[in-house]
Amino acid sequence: MKTLSCREAGFDCDYVVRGETEEDIFKNGGEHAMKDHGMKEEDLTPEFKEKLRGLIKDQ
Ligand SMILES: [Zn+2]
Repeated sequence: MKTLSCREAGFDCDYVVRGETEEDIFKNGGEHAMKDHGMKEEDLTPEFKEKLRGLIKDQ
């Protein structure tokens, strides 16, 4: 299980993204960010994902 804290990603939000793989994290996190933070598909740039990748924790 992997997790990614939305707060660590730079949002004022207590949501924690969970997934089995990095791919799951990006899928679930992307949905959350678009739904709750008004992000768009094009905001999820490779640079942003690279930053997020470094914040993913293995549980
Ligand atoms: Zn959030």
